[in-house]
Amino acid sequence: MSVETQKETLGFQTEVKQLLHLMIHSLYSNKEIFLRELISNASDAADKLRFEALAKPELLEGGAELRIRVSFDKDARTVTLDDNGIGMSRDEVVTHLGTIAKSGTADFMKNLTGDQKKDSHLIGQFGVGFYSAFIVADQVDVYTRRAGLPASEAVHWSSRGEGEFEVATIDKPERGTRIVLHLKADETEFADGWRLRNVIKKYSDHIALPIELPKEQAPAEGEAAPAEPEWETVNRASALWTRPRAEIKDEEYQEFYKHISHDFENPLSWSHNKVEGKLEYSSLLYVPARAPFDLYQREAPRGLKLYVQRVFIMDQAESFLPLYLRFIKGVVDSNDLSLNVSREILQKDPIIDSMKSALTKRVLDMLEKLAQNEPEQYKTFWKNFGQVLKEGPAEDFANKEKIAGLLRFASTQDDSGEPTVGLAEYLARAKEGQDKIYYLTGESYAQVKNSPHLEVFRKKGIEVLLLTDRIDEWLMSYLTDFDGKGLVDVARGDLDLGKLDSEEDKKAQEEVAKSKEGLVERLKGALEQSVSEVRVSHRLTDSPAILAIGEQDLGLQMRQILEASGQKVPDSKPIFEFNPAHPLIEKLDAEPDEDRFNDFAHILFDQAALAAGDSLKDPAAYVRRLNKLLIELSV
Ligand code: ADP
Ligand code: MG
Repeated sequence: MSVETQKETLGFQTEVKQLLHLMIHSLYSNKEIFLRELISNASDAADKLRFEALAKPELLEGGAELRIRVSFDKDARTVTLDDNGIGMSRDEVVTHLGTIAKSGTADFMKNLTGDQKKDSHLIGQFGVGFYSAFIVADQVDVYTRRAGLPASEAVHWSSRGEGEFEVATIDKPERGTRIVLHLKADETEFADGWRLRNVIKKYSDHIALPIELPKEQAPAEGEAAPAEPEWETVNRASALWTRPRAEIKDEEYQEFYKHISHDFENPLSWSHNKVEGKLEYSSLLYVPARAPFDLYQREAPRGLKLYVQRVFIMDQAESFLPLYLRFIKGVVDSNDLSLNVSREILQKDPIIDSMKSALTKRVLDMLEKLAQNEPEQYKTFWKNFGQVLKEGPAEDFANKEKIAGLLRFASTQDDSGEPTVGLAEYLARAKEGQDKIYYLTGESYAQVKNSPHLEVFRKKGIEVLLLTDRIDEWLMSYLTDFDGKGLVDVARGDLDLGKLDSEEDKKAQEEVAKSKEGLVERLKGALEQSVSEVRVSHRLTDSPAILAIGEQDLGLQMRQILEASGQKVPDSKPIFEFNPAHPLIEKLDAEPDEDRFNDFAHILFDQAALAAGDSLKDPAAYVRRLNKLLIELSV
């Protein structure tokens, strides 16, 4: 080994230390994945070199045949990975192998519980990467030189995976990265050609870069093994998405997913397509089984891996899918784009627009299929990504109907409270004559499921969807109909059940309304400050009164969100509806004393607000009035 200069010892970033500790202790049962991670990095390094060499061919330094070599030394207890990819400069080594650059890492680390079982799931979500080398090695040496830098500016990085690492400048004539793993005493099984070959076949067959192992050949009697072994490619070494679908095994699709997504778990589903004709491209799109920890972080990476004619161009090409599908992972390989395409060009290129709408369709089709054929899997999908998909109707007008069909809600028809009901299913079992889809929004399932707004629906056996996500009210402002049927908020406006009310029902309602005109007027007088209208309700069976939201007014949920974010909310008064058949209302109607009538009316109004999940403007007044009434009752 050459002379080392400018040697220094540096500490790992705190998060790296935590990650290392966690990984070594929680991934023990799956330790062979270290090889997959290191090969995956070598493959990325080859991609990056090819890409940079498009503009600067001299980076290839005459050697364009990219490959990774995996060798071992039983006696020395080492496994060595040697690639001729892009390599790293000294600064890059210090950043990439000393810190974790992902956004939200600190937040992620805060979520760790210290319980190894739970945390090992979290770590899968985070992605293990290079540091997984320390699962099997108690010392790791990295020798690397960035393509284009002189041989004298190579770097040696070394660490025992504890608190710190060393870097020194060395000489390395060959471009690329060599990683030497000094295996722990009980991990010697990996210093074995057969074992390595199997692990590579299992996890890395799909890697497009040739992975070479020394050819196994016993040296002839009396001869020493040759100094430079003969190398043999052990993987298939062709880009997976270029192969015909029928030839690709599920396991290969799954491993390829892990390589490009840095996820630890298998995907829920994928869709692999080749498009020919005006535009030519291949795509391989995946639905992950789990939300990444940074799904809601603005700057979190998203988008597809872009290749142009099999050459890697960039990660996280965002222009191929809409924001509401940002959880999709995958690859797109175009034959039409130019090799020097940039992010800026992608944003403007009309080719991208038509690819984007085709890829969006593919994803929605894939989700439809998943919902249809694998309802259990779809539940998992919905739990993880439903909230994001709900952004769809607002973002993607053209696919509104398709997206609406993929949404799932809790419903009065299912006591579990889980979001399992789709709009198509709802309509399929709707009542004869029902031409609307009814829903109610609110804070929580517990609150909406007992809402007085549902009383008439319960009585008539009409299903109502129960929407309790923060985004729901906003979503519904974009989703006005599905399959030609209007979506109706049951807490809004004057409830009209259409054909679901018989002619007799309607006549009876009109008569009752007429007979209560006097009470309506008195209530209007009493509640003038608080309500926009007073009317007789047809939607109540058990409760005395209810507050309905005006057709054009902001719902409670939106109002609360806006208020919480400090925005000024337009003042809107609710409609007070009362149940003429309720004993309290009968009592109220019969009350001759105007002061008592007034108190009584306010109590009913405040109670209706509470039942809707709202807070009272003047809670003390409510308590005072109620207590006054209670005292009068008890004397
Ligand atoms: P990830 O692959 O998710 O970026 P890793 O922990 O696997 O995370 O690797 C960290 C970084 O180290 C990589 O992004 C890359 O910049 C650098 N790196 C790792 N291995 C190599 C390699 N063989 N050649 C060049 N760079 C590498
Ligand atoms: Mg990696």
